[in-house]
Amino acid sequence: MRNNVVFAVLVSAASLFAAEWDFYEPELAPAPKEAAWKKDVCVRLDETLAVTVETRDDVDAAAAWFGGKLKAAFGVAPKIKALRSAGGAKFDPEEYALSAQPGALVVKAAGLAGVKHAFHTLRQIAIVDRGGVMSRGWIMPAFEIRDKPSIAFRGVHLCWFPEQRVARIEGAIRLAAYYKFNYIVLENWGVWRSEKHPWFGWPDGKMTSAEVKRLVKIAADEGVTLVPQLNVFGHASLSRVRTGNHATLDFAPEYAPLFEPYGGWNWCLSNPAARRTIKELAIELHDLFGRPPYFHIGCDEGCPPTCPKCRAADYNQLFSSLVKELADEFDTRGAGVMMWHDMLLKRADANEGARFEGFYCNGDERAEQLLDSLPRSVAICDWYYGSARKDGKYPTLDYFKAKGFRTITSPACEPSGITAQAKYAREHGMFGFLVTTWAGFHGRNVPATMLNAAHAAWGGAYPGPKLHQDIYSPCNEHWRQIGWDMGNTDRRNTGFFDEQFPSTTVTW
Ligand SMILES: [Zn+2]
Repeated sequence: MRNNVVFAVLVSAASLFAAEWDFYEPELAPAPKEAAWKKDVCVRLDETLAVTVETRDDVDAAAAWFGGKLKAAFGVAPKIKALRSAGGAKFDPEEYALSAQPGALVVKAAGLAGVKHAFHTLRQIAIVDRGGVMSRGWIMPAFEIRDKPSIAFRGVHLCWFPEQRVARIEGAIRLAAYYKFNYIVLENWGVWRSEKHPWFGWPDGKMTSAEVKRLVKIAADEGVTLVPQLNVFGHASLSRVRTGNHATLDFAPEYAPLFEPYGGWNWCLSNPAARRTIKELAIELHDLFGRPPYFHIGCDEGCPPTCPKCRAADYNQLFSSLVKELADEFDTRGAGVMMWHDMLLKRADANEGARFEGFYCNGDERAEQLLDSLPRSVAICDWYYGSARKDGKYPTLDYFKAKGFRTITSPACEPSGITAQAKYAREHGMFGFLVTTWAGFHGRNVPATMLNAAHAAWGGAYPGPKLHQDIYSPCNEHWRQIGWDMGNTDRRNTGFFDEQFPSTTVTW
């Protein structure tokens, strides 16, 4: 007893001079609009924590989801109180508030979407308790956070190449949800195994029906919707252009009538069988993805026709009528069609001194007429891959918006471009933001692109890592947590690179 008294006196004396805790402020992605930290107060994430999940909608489902994730990520099952929020509590659909103090964790949101964002924030804050050899529980500073996205449609365009293992795609999907994107446009590069048209794409493609259904389910649970893409015009080779591959014709030359001769880059739009096949593939893909609210039809970088029938026809009309047919079909399915923009701008307009100087314009002289002929239900994804424009202006976005289209700005991995385009989209009322990754979703591009895009889509700008940037990125730990969630045991699926050293070495 006497020893205990002495100990208590010593502890109390120590607390006069120094705090027991000094938490490092976590580098959250995206950074919340409002955050207040008490770094000297420790909150234990354990069974004694009173957790309240308060929403207007999805009351029981939101509490159950949150409890399930606490158990899965932290191994704890505290009591969860599900509350229906009072009439005065106003939250936008994806807005959330999250606060932690010793003994209490409170989540507030309009519904399940906001609760999922709150959990992904919590995941980035909690750390393993200090001391000991093995993990004994989780701790975090006391805090209050409130946040909401600045752009309603926040997407990642993700390509699935034959070389990519399923685990890499699953990791990318989970990372997009973790960073609070709400859509992923998944483009098939010959890997989809159509059941209706098994000749379409590579015979060993990894994107099977069973795999897609599993990924759609994971994405929905994590809070992001998978949107399929089918290239209905150019890019019909489903292969990077310089490779010379054609994912269909290399092994199934008997299907050549469906594509333009001399390479098969475009579908043959004057062939009714090709149009029917495109539609059947699109419907099969949309059903396979669970009929999401969007469908991306590609349409970038088409070539002029090389077949005698398409050349003799009004090629713009062939293309425009196909887009209309698809838009009408998807309209009956409650979905909107998305397409790339470049065939809808006159190539000459990209020249020096022209109205879209420096932008990507691949259309012919009648591009404006073509644009005007498209249904306004089409959302136009305007890709621009450069760094931030010196004048801060994106006239192509304004052009499509003025024409009455939902317009989505689509940067690539250039950080300043990502930030500037998201800012322009926010400030000029554009419909959305879709960061593209193409063949670059590997290596250091992964954290760089995803961190910059997440911050930009939620209204900020990624400041860069606070610690030594050559050895540190907050994304490293986030990616590792995702590997734990996936139950990954394959070394190649950890980190951002498959290998750290060439797999074979040679000399001569
Ligand atoms: Zn043709």
